[in-house]
Amino acid sequence: MDDIEPPSNSPIDLTDRGDLILNIHDVNRLKRSSFVVSSHILTMASPVFAAMLDPKFKEGQQLLQSREQNAAEKPIILLEEDDVDAMDFILSSLHYKTDRIKHDLGAQAIAEIAVQSDKYDFHGVLVPWIKLWCHPDRFPVRPSHKVRDMGYGLLVAYLFQSPDFVAVSASYAKTLPPDFATSWRTSKFMSRLPKVIEVQLASEITRAQKEIRLQVLSKMDELQPKNNPCTVDRSRSHLVQYLDVLKHFDIWPSLVLFDTSSPSDLVSLIQGLPRAPNPVCLRYQLPQCPLRVAITELCRAVCTIRDNMEGVPLSMVVGASDESGNDSSDDIVNKVTKSVSTRVE
Ligand SMILES: [Zn+2]
Repeated sequence: MDDIEPPSNSPIDLTDRGDLILNIHDVNRLKRSSFVVSSHILTMASPVFAAMLDPKFKEGQQLLQSREQNAAEKPIILLEEDDVDAMDFILSSLHYKTDRIKHDLGAQAIAEIAVQSDKYDFHGVLVPWIKLWCHPDRFPVRPSHKVRDMGYGLLVAYLFQSPDFVAVSASYAKTLPPDFATSWRTSKFMSRLPKVIEVQLASEITRAQKEIRLQVLSKMDELQPKNNPCTVDRSRSHLVQYLDVLKHFDIWPSLVLFDTSSPSDLVSLIQGLPRAPNPVCLRYQLPQCPLRVAITELCRAVCTIRDNMEGVPLSMVVGASDESGNDSSDDIVNKVTKSVSTRVE
């Protein structure tokens, strides 16, 4: 039975050329694991580890001494604020331990990996996954946790600086309810997403809602009884019938749905108008019936509004940081000192 995992106190061997042990646990110490890794592979993959294992840091000195003394005991680096499963995924990918790599990750697990990868600059290792995770239709969003999972999807695309960020944010803007930020504020690491993204997303949602509402109201004006090819009873004019249809779907007289529903939900609702019961004008089936024309045009117009919704360009967010997109050496040293290490002066 080869795949029985060793007990949690013995390190998981990710390579038979390992010369270093990473002892990882989260802030709450609920879960811990140790991994035997290759310092060579680690420094190739992560500029942060490369700096940490440089002899000017404590960990680098330990590694150097262990090599020089040909010591049997491998030096141990303690990482005390990391997610064990996320680091397991990254380190296993790095050492080609494919049997340890899970393929059915949920939104939160992917977000944990993105956070860890951001901390240690492991993005290069994850390139094959990043393309998959930063696709709005392929990031796993559970219907029961839609708002939270979309937040994670956006955070992942942001942390990986995905060129598809604008498409991801446009896609989520269509489906998020306007109060999405309230739910994000209770989520574990959504504070890492720059506020400007949240604000832009909310403003795009509000803009689309307003345009959709304007379309619905503008049809009332168009249905005033003039140039009317259908002979309809005055009390059941096209306008009255239109209002009846809207009432049936709770769109009228209260307009509250326009403030509380996502643009996509509003569009779905409006697309149901042609199927309203008790129609309406007796000539509704004729293409020239103004009610029919108005509802058909309304459906088309609101779809266009939804489809043309815009995402947030990442350039708007990262403009303030290093233009190359790469960390400067000062940034890397900051990341190392924040992680574990003590600089040897
Ligand atoms: Zn008619």
